[in-house]
Amino acid sequence: MDADFPELSPNVYRDTWCGQVLGDRVDKAVRVSGWVHRRRDHGGLIFIDLRDRTGVVQLVFNPDEAGGSFELGHRLRSEFVVSVVGRVLTREPETVNPDLPTGQFEIHVTGAEVLAESDTPPFAIEGFNAEVGEEARLRHRYLDLRREPMQRAIELRHRLTTSMRRFLDAEGFLEIETPILTRSTPEGARDFLVPSRQHRGSFYALPQSPQLFKQMLMVSGFERYFQVARCFRDEDLRADRQPDFTQLDIEMSFVDSEDIITLNERLMAHLLGEMGIDVQIPFPRMGYDEAIQRFGSDKPDTRYGFEITDLTEILRGTEFKAFGGVIESGGAVRGINFGRRELSRAQLDGLIDDAKELGAKGLVWAFREGDGWRAPIAKFLSAEELSGLNTAMDAEEGDLMLVAADQPAKVAAILGGLRTRLAERWGLIPEGENQLTWIVDWPMFEFNADEDRWDALHHPFTAPSGEFDPADPGSARAQAYDLVWNGVELGGGSIRINSPELQSQVFTALGISLEEAADRFGFLLEALRYGAPPHGGIAFGVDRFAALLAGVDSIRDVIAFPKTASGGDPLTGAPAPVDDVQMRDVGIALRKPAKPGSA
Ligand code: ASP
Repeated sequence: MDADFPELSPNVYRDTWCGQVLGDRVDKAVRVSGWVHRRRDHGGLIFIDLRDRTGVVQLVFNPDEAGGSFELGHRLRSEFVVSVVGRVLTREPETVNPDLPTGQFEIHVTGAEVLAESDTPPFAIEGFNAEVGEEARLRHRYLDLRREPMQRAIELRHRLTTSMRRFLDAEGFLEIETPILTRSTPEGARDFLVPSRQHRGSFYALPQSPQLFKQMLMVSGFERYFQVARCFRDEDLRADRQPDFTQLDIEMSFVDSEDIITLNERLMAHLLGEMGIDVQIPFPRMGYDEAIQRFGSDKPDTRYGFEITDLTEILRGTEFKAFGGVIESGGAVRGINFGRRELSRAQLDGLIDDAKELGAKGLVWAFREGDGWRAPIAKFLSAEELSGLNTAMDAEEGDLMLVAADQPAKVAAILGGLRTRLAERWGLIPEGENQLTWIVDWPMFEFNADEDRWDALHHPFTAPSGEFDPADPGSARAQAYDLVWNGVELGGGSIRINSPELQSQVFTALGISLEEAADRFGFLLEALRYGAPPHGGIAFGVDRFAALLAGVDSIRDVIAFPKTASGGDPLTGAPAPVDDVQMRDVGIALRKPAKPGSA
């Protein structure tokens, strides 16, 4: 049992935790309560494994000792809730269970009471079958949560958030709650809307993050704020996203990026240290452009190599049209050397499908052979080009090279995607290593060709580095930073704009008119006019962090009541239609569904 577990104050139900039935209780009378984990009927004797939050203990119902309670022992079924009294004895050596902390002991029952019966559970809690579908687990989540791995995951999450709170409290941070019913906060997703009954036709938005409130708290002079905050984003379906999720949200005043980075390195070392993971600080930093060049990602997994090499200059002017044409139109040719690999023709062709899934038009594969290539396209390239490519990619005999050509951002994303996919598929990721890296020096904006406008890469409140030229958004850099752990973005933040003039200029660069800015964020612009200190902050995804620490694949396994990948909750049936009266109260009528084919 966890040494920190508090002692029980005896009451009518129990005086001892199940997990506490150890050597010091031998020959003593105890009272325990819990759920029937397992039941075995051995002719004259009934054995029950009884479970509470601290563990499992074996009960023995023997007709000589249990008296009238023996019959009750017969009636017990899985997941019944019982309270028993009995004497603790050491088990016979041949019945010791080395897998159980209490496995050397058992309680010989002298009295028992059923506190609640249970229907037969839809899936077994003890001896859970991994085939049970997620829908069934979520439909009966209260039962799923009884399982040992779920109990441990929820405990771990609690320890993580407690550890965050302790560290930040000791550093002078205040945890301050911000509203759930509020106005839109732009973090790049759609808002969830809540119709107002009192103000018909008006809506609250659920916060995508506490961004604007935490900035106003800096204007208020709190200087160091944090919150374990629920955030809501109505995004399109993506594996392992939740419409409501939790962030550790932090904001500080009179700081620059350096202060925020160093405080958060200490926070991370503390949190990971408490979870038994030692990390060295400071963490390495990498510029955004370098991350994209070398790893094809703004969240590079730096535990392994297989970096991207730019081959454009070697191939400029090549006769091979698939490369030459792309280069002429301003594109790039880049490749990765994956080392010596044996792959069948079908597997090699499969790689082309992988690349296409990642948005490529095609993919070239080649093995180094002598000074040239063994590859279907080798004949289209000159001997000089081939040997130049081998040298650039540092290829040795038999090494597999994958090469793609496209516009620079696209080719980076394709090769970056292939790199992580194949590293996983081919087992190239070193086990047990932890790499935490800051990605710094971000562009302020990225061009959204579909909408023909500039979008903020972080959010519109991020401060630019140095002078800002509103006429040239493409070259503006941001005082922003992301923390990446083994290729996963743990969190990100920035120094904020604290001047209303600069904030207005950034809105203009984003194509947000001054009227629109005044309507949507006027309250923030106004707050910035009353002595806003220099400030900045960061937010970390708590669900993702807990999932990584728990070693589970899905964030749903560290959330007590998550939604399915399609945003539904099989337990409560949310989201659900509401009745006419409720709709009328908030002044809402549903539109007719759009006719098929109409936009
Ligand atoms: N509000 C930002 C986010 O939710 C984080 C930050 O800038 O502090 O991503």
